[in-house]
Amino acid sequence: MKKIFVTGGAGYIGSHVVKALGEAGYQVLVYDNLSTGNRWAVLHGDLVVGELSDRQLLSNTLRDFQPDAVMHFAAFIEVAESVSNPLKYYRNNTLNALQLLEVLQELNIGRFIFSSTAAVYGTPEEIPVAETAPLEPINPYGASKMMSERLLADLTLALPEDFRYVALRYFNVAGADSGGRIGQAYKNPTHLITRALKTARGQYPALQLFGTDYPTEDGTCIRDYIHVDDLAEAHLVALRHLLNGGQSDIFNCGYGHGYSVREVIEVAKKVSGVDFTVIEADRREGDPAALTAKSDKIVSELDWKPRHDDLEYIVRTAWEWEQKVDAKLSD
Ligand code: UDP
Repeated sequence: MKKIFVTGGAGYIGSHVVKALGEAGYQVLVYDNLSTGNRWAVLHGDLVVGELSDRQLLSNTLRDFQPDAVMHFAAFIEVAESVSNPLKYYRNNTLNALQLLEVLQELNIGRFIFSSTAAVYGTPEEIPVAETAPLEPINPYGASKMMSERLLADLTLALPEDFRYVALRYFNVAGADSGGRIGQAYKNPTHLITRALKTARGQYPALQLFGTDYPTEDGTCIRDYIHVDDLAEAHLVALRHLLNGGQSDIFNCGYGHGYSVREVIEVAKKVSGVDFTVIEADRREGDPAALTAKSDKIVSELDWKPRHDDLEYIVRTAWEWEQKVDAKLSD
């Protein structure tokens, strides 16, 4: 049984990947500080509660577990917060990734899957954006991830046999486990779908729509929303690639087409059955107008088979989860 070490495995995306790893028969060890993650979200394997910055604990845990591969999810993810507090992002997303790589090198652990982001592209000249597009992040979040990608690229160049990685550039991840066991559980979520659904549930008086003067058809931003279970499956195909001796590589994770903020709001109203209040507000700093993935590379090279390319399904699973999450958080 192959052993996979998962940082941030108690968080939103990490927990869905841990679920998929467990179902596929891998042995899993999660390392998470539970700052945004939750113990109940770890559906398979064991959990070590620790800081990524705690080099000693990280090193001892890895030495004991001897994983075949590492998946690195632990990171901060909010664009707006990264603009107001950039050093927090560089410290956690870049410096802690660097330290993790140092520890892995010391221990000769050389297969690595990295959570990257479409934010590394900034405002791409062409959409859907291909993996080969220039990396020009427009916010510290994207820059912090781009720097980590660079560390990985340089390390694999230096040690082509001993260190191989796959970086997955996530587009807009949303939705929840179809079994309703896990989902997004942030205390103050900023992402559009979650925010809209919490507004529908009356947890916020209104949804702010950030920017209606973008150069898009309806003036609002366009994003490529991908269901979290499809994203989890992308990690599994990437893992098989590395475990079967595949080379280091980078893949977009999105469906290849997008929806505007207004379209998402319409679907959220339909699914919830609530005509919640929407306030048109100024643009949010750091938001590109449109971001969609050219996604054929992961499909053709890793045989990724997405199954939930359906905004209504994404929003419905998120809505079902919203009925449960508060009770989960107060457990
Ligand atoms: N957005 C919005 N209101 C919100 C949250 C998000 O209008 O309460 C917009 C945001 O400006 C962006 C899109 O929805 O255009 C997606 O934002 P989100 O934070 O979900 O993901 P991001 O693309 O920033 O990773």
